Amino acid sequence: MDIEQSCGSCATSMKVNYSLRFSKGPSWSSSYRCHQCGNAIEVDADGPLGNPVRAKLLEKYGCVALIFGGSVSDMNLVKFIKSLAATDIKKAFSLARKIREQGGICGFSCEISWLKLCAENNGIVDFQVVDLIQCVDGKAYAFLDFFDDLGN
Ligand SMILES: [Zn+2]
Repeated sequence: MDIEQSCGSCATSMKVNYSLRFSKGPSWSSSYRCHQCGNAIEVDADGPLGNPVRAKLLEKYGCVALIFGGSVSDMNLVKFIKSLAATDIKKAFSLARKIREQGGICGFSCEISWLKLCAENNGIVDFQVVDLIQCVDGKAYAFLDFFDDLGN
């Protein structure tokens, strides 16, 4: 995914590429070399990509939501949440409630695919992936907030 950004050194506008990866958890990287002044940056970071770049990329590439069906129990969600982080059981239940209240979790399509896989690995089969616009009020629990709340 790429967006137009200014060089931190000479302010020339250029396309900067961001790539997201998932292994045990999300991580991302970015690199650019300014063709004008030669300024080069390389970033490799653990965790979800943060704002403001995240917001701009979501606007450009779209946001999707993972919605769990009615047959998914709180216990299923807790198991799923605990597979993502060493969250204590009380916090996992409160996060499960928050996922339900907000209708689902939304983010980049690759983030949602990863969550979907994690859900499947924890025995959850009743879910849908939809465009965020199809969610109630066009909103859901943002992946970034969800990860903050997990305490990762
Ligand atoms: Zn430059």
